[in-house]
Amino acid sequence: MDMKAVLSLIESENIEYVDFRIVDLPGRQHHVTIPAYAVDEGTFLNGVAFDGSSLTGYKGIEESDMVAMPDPASAFIDPFVEAKTLNIVCNICNPDGTPYERDPRGIALKAEAYLKQTGLATDAYFGPESEFFLFDSVRYASGPSGSFFHIDSEEAFWNTGKEGQNLGYKVRNKGGYFPVQPTDTQMDIRNEMCTLMTQAGLKVERHHHEVATAGQGEINFRFDTLTRTADNLLLFKYIVRNVAAKHGKTATFMPKPIVGDNGSGMHVHQSLFDGERPLFYEKGGYANLSQMALYYIGGILYHAPALIALTNPSTNSFKRLVPGYEAPVNLVFSKGNRSAAIRIPVAAVTPKAARIEFRTPDSTANPYLAFAAMLMAGLDGIKRRLDPRELGYGPVDRNIYDLSDAEKQEIKSAPGSLEEALNALERDHDFLLEGGVFTRDVIESWIALKRGEIQQVERTVNPKEYELYYDL
Ligand code: GLU
Ligand code: MG
Ligand code: MG
Repeated sequence: MDMKAVLSLIESENIEYVDFRIVDLPGRQHHVTIPAYAVDEGTFLNGVAFDGSSLTGYKGIEESDMVAMPDPASAFIDPFVEAKTLNIVCNICNPDGTPYERDPRGIALKAEAYLKQTGLATDAYFGPESEFFLFDSVRYASGPSGSFFHIDSEEAFWNTGKEGQNLGYKVRNKGGYFPVQPTDTQMDIRNEMCTLMTQAGLKVERHHHEVATAGQGEINFRFDTLTRTADNLLLFKYIVRNVAAKHGKTATFMPKPIVGDNGSGMHVHQSLFDGERPLFYEKGGYANLSQMALYYIGGILYHAPALIALTNPSTNSFKRLVPGYEAPVNLVFSKGNRSAAIRIPVAAVTPKAARIEFRTPDSTANPYLAFAAMLMAGLDGIKRRLDPRELGYGPVDRNIYDLSDAEKQEIKSAPGSLEEALNALERDHDFLLEGGVFTRDVIESWIALKRGEIQQVERTVNPKEYELYYDL
């Protein structure tokens, strides 16, 4: 849709409000709403003014008056607002109309432009699989030095049935995947999410209950180009959260809400195309991958310690990246092996569907920054011919959790904490600066923002500390 199409849609659909959306540095959407009668060509050409100074990560803004420049192609009708409302995603610009260098969406657009400039490919496709939990309620508990919330598996378990009732269909620990209703209590709610996603323009491919005990779900929508997919992911999260809220539930994309059960990942499928020509397929190669795909893998794994500061940017992310829960711990690639950081799907793969699946990321990532950073790492791998087989990244086709200690020593691990990942990003970020895609300013702001989060978490009393020390 272009500007003219959006303006005539406002007329033909009797739209009452237009909601302009921007994203802050961590990845939360914010909005400014304008009555539809006040929206005209000027709104699209000059943008919508807003105060940028209160958005997280944008404190460095000298002048707080910023401009949201609408992207008409992103328009969709909001299913959750009573008055008929059209939502439009915007890029953030300085008051003089130049792109604001910390705007995550602007960085995603620059990454796509850079890809074309390299001449290596015309399009990068991304397909995220964002898992989530639905909870009926969370229990808030207070500790002496602040409050925290704690969901234990026991409580989450009961939340799969009707409030306070045992209906006899118990989802066993890590047994939620595939059993039909009534064990799966979230069929209707996921269907409702999918219906609204389809209406909003996402191409839903499938949904299912995930492995964790209590209400973990996954809905997959079709891959698309980088920025479009990041837009789609925010739309997806918006719909999941709002449908959950309608049902008196909350949805969380937090990577590890329950101790001792599977966490939620955001595996990201990726491939490069030259126009219509898929570049990741070559019959007869390892898992039918082309040399270009192997170099792309090499780039991702080589830069993974730093990349993970953008793809897994919460302290909670590293509670998911532990052995035994289908989340990757090791920096290797493999066909089919779910314990590897990069898996090559081989079932029913045609040349066009040839892709890699980077399993490390989670949904606390800002998708614009995470996808852009993955592309930059992959492109660096192609340019520098980083063959993962020569760099000790596999392939490993056995279950990595079962390898002997000596065998495991050969394999590089993902960073064990957000602090380690941020330190790696501080050392290794030149690949992100290529073509001016990321700037030093945005990387420094990111590191400062995330170090601030680490400090807050470290200064907060944790439930485990009561168990370990209360009676000591
Ligand atoms: N929930 C697992 C993770 O944390 C992934 C399960 C799956 O393979 O879909 O990555
Ligand atoms: Mg899954
Ligand atoms: Mg997957």
